Amino acid sequence: MAHDPITAATNPVADHREPAFVHADQANEARSRLAALEQRTGRKPNVLIVLMDDVGWGDFGCYGGGAMAGAPTPNIDRLARDGLVLTSCYSEPSCTPSRASIMTGRLPMRHGLLIPPMYGMPGGLEGEVTLAQLLNDAGYATQAVGKWHMGENIESQPQNVGFDDFYGFLSVSDMYTEWRDPYFFPEVVYSEERSDWIRNEPFNKCFVHATKGEEAENVEEVTIPVLSTLDDKWAEYSTDFINRMAEGDQPWFLYHCTRGAHFDNYPHERFRGSSPAKHPYKDTIIELDDIVGRLTRALEESGQLEHTLVFISSDNGPEMETWPDAAYTPFRCAKGSTWEGGVRVPGIFSWPGTIEPGRVSDGIFAQLDLFATILGLAGVPDLIPDDRYIDAVDQTSFLVAPDGESNRKFHFYWLTSNFSAVRVGEYKYMLSSISDDERDVVNPGGFTGVMQQYPYGRLFNLYLDPKETHSYLIRKLVYIDLIQRAVGDHLRTFREYASRPPPTQPRQQG
Ligand code: CA
Repeated sequence: MAHDPITAATNPVADHREPAFVHADQANEARSRLAALEQRTGRKPNVLIVLMDDVGWGDFGCYGGGAMAGAPTPNIDRLARDGLVLTSCYSEPSCTPSRASIMTGRLPMRHGLLIPPMYGMPGGLEGEVTLAQLLNDAGYATQAVGKWHMGENIESQPQNVGFDDFYGFLSVSDMYTEWRDPYFFPEVVYSEERSDWIRNEPFNKCFVHATKGEEAENVEEVTIPVLSTLDDKWAEYSTDFINRMAEGDQPWFLYHCTRGAHFDNYPHERFRGSSPAKHPYKDTIIELDDIVGRLTRALEESGQLEHTLVFISSDNGPEMETWPDAAYTPFRCAKGSTWEGGVRVPGIFSWPGTIEPGRVSDGIFAQLDLFATILGLAGVPDLIPDDRYIDAVDQTSFLVAPDGESNRKFHFYWLTSNFSAVRVGEYKYMLSSISDDERDVVNPGGFTGVMQQYPYGRLFNLYLDPKETHSYLIRKLVYIDLIQRAVGDHLRTFREYASRPPPTQPRQQG
């Protein structure tokens, strides 16, 4: 019988770790499946993360989008049918906080990357212990491809925080092109002074190649025509990596971050007008689906599909301030907010032979759980640091047991340095949020609203009210003690374990 996440108790993991549900039977089943796989292959599993940019919860066919939204996604839908579809997979509200949380297993308030560094702003991953570094220490080949955006300073670049090799750009898509496009920036394009001014801003205008410990080398300046080829080039780089790794015995971690579908979208010429919608955003979704097909085909043709865990997701909800160059979400508000529209993202796991096909679960999965889960799968959970608080929960039994349930009881939402909300089961208790009141139900955007504090909190039932419009608090006070104790325990960890001061100054973008 499925257990109830509201009434069931968690088990402590360690003083510095988020407590977790232990489902003993599911854990045993997962262990025996993984042991059988390791016996068959003689090695630890490979891991492929495909992290898309600003793609919405509802964009893919398997989430109700696809053909309905003018951009069919047959490759992603096939992966979903063959694996596990998560309906409650959570990112942070914007790019950099999400990415750094995956890499560290820690909330942004702990690793300090609260907002995306823009146009040469200082700060990044430097000083944190990363998933890539620990996997590398455990003997994995570690490859990052595509968007980085966790700091441009040398110490924070991928080749210096655990990756053997990096091929991609260090910042975010719009920074390379918006000031070159006369439609968006006529006052820059038609002014030599302003164009020069931006050229002299301290950020690299090129995409780069870097190898472990070496200085990054410029590959090519990212003009608009070059930008439209990046996802194609990066997919080719990743498929080459997959094919090359098939020849050896070393397990590997490939962190493939697409350029699409962050504004502004200039799809590859092969995909222009390819979607029924004929819109650049939708054409880009078609291109991203094709790339997922290319990567999984490379795994299949090189004989690695069965010993590679594949995870497809997006780093935050849709950016609605740039509509219609924007994604689809059925939830309230958008990127930049802690409403569900800002942080609930697609999450698909595929691992033929190990993850049962055809599963759909609403169990809570925070992207930062990848940190503890992957280190567990790699056989090195002991490498998880014990000198700092780790928010990641090991979700192995959720993924691998055929009837696996989430190991996470509470999900905590933070909006830059403000504690915003907690979810347990179908209930979400909110203390503060960005809002334009009822207007943001139709998603005008998460960065432009005002900050609201709720003195008594608001309680939403996400099953009855996925758009979070009706506070249910007065009728459901029975849950409040459970929730307030969870919030108290959570906030106490910030007093007991030091957080890094934010290396970047608040500025809204990303
Ligand atoms: Ca993003």
